[in-house]
Amino acid sequence: NQNTVNLSNLLNDLIDISMIESGEMRMSYRYFDINIFIQSIVNEFVPMAGEKNIKLIFNPAKEGLQVFGDKDKIRQVFVNLLQNAIKYTDEGSIEILLVEEKKFLNISVKDTGIGIPEEDLNRIFERFYRVDKARSRAVGGTGLGLAIVKHIIEAHNSKIIVRSKQGEGSTFSFKLKK
Ligand code: ATP
Ligand code: MG
Repeated sequence: NQNTVNLSNLLNDLIDISMIESGEMRMSYRYFDINIFIQSIVNEFVPMAGEKNIKLIFNPAKEGLQVFGDKDKIRQVFVNLLQNAIKYTDEGSIEILLVEEKKFLNISVKDTGIGIPEEDLNRIFERFYRVDKARSRAVGGTGLGLAIVKHIIEAHNSKIIVRSKQGEGSTFSFKLKK
């Protein structure tokens, strides 16, 4: 069953990447309530984090705050970032941080995991790039997740930024228009 799930995830990622690269990713932008949206994703991930004893923390922004974006695509961004955060964290916590700016909402997914070596930081968004081949193979994956994340965020006229320190953790951030 797990192999079927892995294969089906891989196929979906490959379809996404080829759609994106052939310019066929159709976007559908609208305003949506960011707190309700993130809370529902967090609820889905609590069991997965709990299995590894990782605390999943989310402090909502001000009630009713709306952001502009493609909800399904932004959901995919969160799923990829949270899956990575859980996969590459052995203890501690994962936090979703929302910081309101004048015209944007700054969104970060911060973990206390293994971190990423400095020399790999500018390559992890490439298709199929994985930091430590042996370690990565043990936890599974293809190396497409962050490539998809980057395309989606750039389609929103934003940028995905990573800060990380080996042994301390990683933070991935992007902004959405309010
Ligand atoms: P896939 O997402 O296709 O299942 P993957 O998780 O290996 O596979 P990406 O999500 O694209 O691929 O991430 C690329 C690489 O970046 C990972 O293999 C891992 O080495 C590193 N990485 C990503 N997120 C984190 C994180 N939160 N902490 C530490 N390393 C990370
Ligand atoms: Mg991934």
